[in-house]
Amino acid sequence: MALMARMGVHVSIAGGVDKAVGRAKEKGCDVFQIFSSNPRGWKIRPISDDDIERFAAQFRSSGLDLAVDHMPYLPNLASPRDDVYIKSIDALATELARCKMLGIPFLVTHLGSHLGAGWEQGLQRIVGALDLAFSRAENDVVLLLENTAGTKNSMGGSFQEIAAIIDSLLDRRSRLGVCLDTCHLFAAGYELRTPEGLGETLDQFKSNIGLEKLMLIHLNDCRGTLGSHLDRHEHIGLGQIGEVGFRTILGHEAIRALPMILETPIDSRRDDLGNLRVARQLASG
Ligand code: MN
Ligand code: MN
Ligand code: ZN
Repeated sequence: MALMARMGVHVSIAGGVDKAVGRAKEKGCDVFQIFSSNPRGWKIRPISDDDIERFAAQFRSSGLDLAVDHMPYLPNLASPRDDVYIKSIDALATELARCKMLGIPFLVTHLGSHLGAGWEQGLQRIVGALDLAFSRAENDVVLLLENTAGTKNSMGGSFQEIAAIIDSLLDRRSRLGVCLDTCHLFAAGYELRTPEGLGETLDQFKSNIGLEKLMLIHLNDCRGTLGSHLDRHEHIGLGQIGEVGFRTILGHEAIRALPMILETPIDSRRDDLGNLRVARQLASG
């Protein structure tokens, strides 16, 4: 029998980071994603030994497969502004250390925006930031670089750009991986809906980055059309990728072997449970 897809959603840590585990369980997740602190602030509440113990105990007894952490939104690792840049490196180092404390093996990060300074400048900034954060937090947490929709000034909208970052950090290679967001990919112009299109996209990933670096999928449908560079997530099957597209994606052996996190909307049409149900249905053929 084919391997069951391991799926889940992003869950809140309101009331304490350990509370995320119960929420993931209630939503029928196999895997889940959290922000370990407020995603819209710079201030990071320190994590206590109690928090760590409670999270570990809850996670162990939950039977859940994997927890991943996501960087907050404010840091910009490619920023040309020194104040933001320095705070962003601090935030990344702190988050890497928090993951280690919580026993979370993966941290997802966006690659930021060069804000008009240009790709080359942005690349130097990111590479410097990752290198510094890695040396401040020497541990085995793997940092997953998330592809973007390729909106103006954003970093990491193509496999070539992600490869350039990884290749600039050769001695840190074991600490780096990639999280592919299907909405961002599609909006950036990568076809996913047909076996041929998806095959071509994954071939490009293989030749630029290497399939062993693909470690997590953000499974989201997309409101924008192919190549629209519009980062607007949609319910699974109700966007431009569509049900047929997701059947193709979820039927691919390289993808279905990976943990998948849905970051879909919650509205009158559908909630997390609904999206997980649809995604599992489409994964089963
Ligand atoms: Mn993200
Ligand atoms: Mn994402
Ligand atoms: Zn997005």
